[in-house]
Amino acid sequence: MSINDCIFCKIAKKEMPAKIIYEDEKVVAFNDINPKAPIHILVIPKKHIESIKNLEQKDEELASSLILAAKKIAEQKGLSGYKLVFNVGKDGGQIINHLHLHLLAGKPIKLP
Ligand code: 5GP
Ligand code: ZN
Repeated sequence: MSINDCIFCKIAKKEMPAKIIYEDEKVVAFNDINPKAPIHILVIPKKHIESIKNLEQKDEELASSLILAAKKIAEQKGLSGYKLVFNVGKDGGQIINHLHLHLLAGKPIKLP
């Protein structure tokens, strides 16, 4: 799949609809279309990076931006606790090949 077909790139460029929760110059966060918890938000870099596997040292600041954006969202929503999850690669449960951090909250969530 080419970057041009990437649905998360399209969401970041507002070419596809999503309920955007947070945005800054590097990061966009939006509601997951098929939530696995009462609150399920995906935090993505605007830059197309496929997966944690493709992260490079030069992406250090961008990678921490995802976590800090998730923290800001959690604070804005007054969440007392939450989970942050990266699925990495097909065998790690990653279906969409654009790096994304899952922010899950609203009920006790057990990891498999
Ligand atoms: P993954 O399994 O790749 O870590 O997670 C991909 C997530 O993206 C899934 O939780 C799925 O529900 C969500 N998702 C897939 N397609 C779309 C879409 O078009 N819009 C939104 N908002 N979420 C999507
Ligand atoms: Zn992309």
